[in-house]
This record gives sequence, structure tokens and C-alpha cells, in this order.
Amino acid sequence: MIMKRAIAAALLVLAMGTVVTAAWLDSQFEEADAEEISSLAGHLGAQSVLGIFAHPDDEILAAGALADAASRAGSVARMITATRGEAGIPDDSVCRPEDLGLVRHAEVLKHGYQLGLERQLVWQYPDGSLVAQLEQVTLELVREIRSLRPDLIITFDPESGYTFHPDHRAIGGAATKARRLAADPVFRPDLGAPHEARWLAFVLVPRRIMQNFGGERGTEIIQHQVPVRYAVPVDQRIKTRAWSIHESQYGYTRRVWRAPLWLLYWFFDQEHYAIEEAGSA
Ligand SMILES: [Zn+2]
Repeated sequence: MIMKRAIAAALLVLAMGTVVTAAWLDSQFEEADAEEISSLAGHLGAQSVLGIFAHPDDEILAAGALADAASRAGSVARMITATRGEAGIPDDSVCRPEDLGLVRHAEVLKHGYQLGLERQLVWQYPDGSLVAQLEQVTLELVREIRSLRPDLIITFDPESGYTFHPDHRAIGGAATKARRLAADPVFRPDLGAPHEARWLAFVLVPRRIMQNFGGERGTEIIQHQVPVRYAVPVDQRIKTRAWSIHESQYGYTRRVWRAPLWLLYWFFDQEHYAIEEAGSA
């Protein structure tokens, strides 16, 4: 009898410990200040969404918002990826290192197709040195914004770039500038008729996980990141599907997180965004 009670008590303590640990882990990926909404495009009323990112696989960070926008009646989602990601982490179980750019180009096209994107552009700017190409990238973005005429642009926060990667900050800065220039009727009329994208969304990293586990880089990211506005729940299957398609970078990502991705996304089940609205900035 005593033995049974001891086992029952131990199981109870274990169960309580598991619940407390799970709640704590969940809180690491949440933002208390954010307003929780079910759909970014739906909440804003956006009908044409354009993702602008640096590398194949960057779009995974906003995959929930892109998939949602693509699936809404009367709305369309598109994406520009500025590089082919040839400077990513090679994985010799997937492809030859010299083929990495080609393979990642294919991976992002496959993923965009699964997300339901109506159109994708994958440019061939050099992975790792977007900063040096900023002027040209910005002009190309102006041309595409005027041509595709999105009302919502999703990109990286130019100050923090989600991971502080220079390419992420560069593409976030170029997209921000291009959105403004595209609306200016005096600026380069040869690049198309002016168009103002009403909303600019920056995808943000959850601060607590970065603060507690991101080391010095994590602290730097948090210090530079703009305040969060919205938290949007995401079906974890969208994220795990994305990594199964981006196979060439999956092994590296799994090693960084030191956890199976289904478990990671069980806790990391929201995307976070800051919003700039035309006329309010
Ligand atoms: Zn990237």
C-alpha cells in the first residue's frame, strides 16, 4: 500500500512537472503585448499579399500568413526571393555543394507552390552580399511593386532581420524603401505607374526565446527589433511541411534547435508581426 502511494505521488509530481515545463516552454514563444488575430490578411482586409525575402527558406517564418492569404477567397499571394541561397549550409546527403543554389531555387519554388502562391520570382543576387547590391535590388522591387500592386508586403524588420543576418536586414530595408518609392509619382516613371502598398508587415522573432537561449546575438536582435503588434496562430503542419520541402537546410536547422521540428512547432505555434500603415508612419 505504501509502495503504491509512493508510486502514485511520484507520478503526480512527474505529471505536474511536465505540465509546468510545457507551459513554460510555450510561454517562451509567445508575446504578451501582441493582439491575437486569426488571420493577418483577413484582419487587415488585404487582398494582394507580396512576400519579399532574401533566401529560399526565409519564407517559412511567414508561411502561415502566406498560406492563409493564398487560400482566402478573392485574395492572392506572391513572393520574391532575392537570392538562390547558394551560400547556405551544404548537406552532402542531399546534393553536391556546387549544386546548392540550383537545389534551393527548386526547393523554394516547390514550397511556394504548396503554399498556394500565384506567382514567384527568384532572383540571382549573390547570397551573402545583398548589401552591396542594395540600390539595384530596391529599383527592381519598385518595378515589381508597381507591376504586382500588392496591398500588403511581408518582409523582414530592417533593423533586426529576425536573425540579424545582413541579407535579411538588407532585403527588409530595400522592401521598406521600395514601397515608399513605388508610391512616389515623381520617382522613375519608367518603372511603372505609381502604387502604394497600404500595409508593410515585418515578421518578428519571439523575444523570450531569443533572450533566454539566443546568447549575445539573441540579445542584439531583441534590442533592435521593432515592437510586436499581432500574434497569428499557425498550424504546425505548415511549418513541418516547409522543412520537408527545404530538405537541403533541414538537417542544419534540426541541429541548431536540438529538437525534432514537430516538437519545436508544437510550442512555436504563432507568427508575430509589426505593421506599418500608409499615412500613419
Ligand atoms: Zn535567410
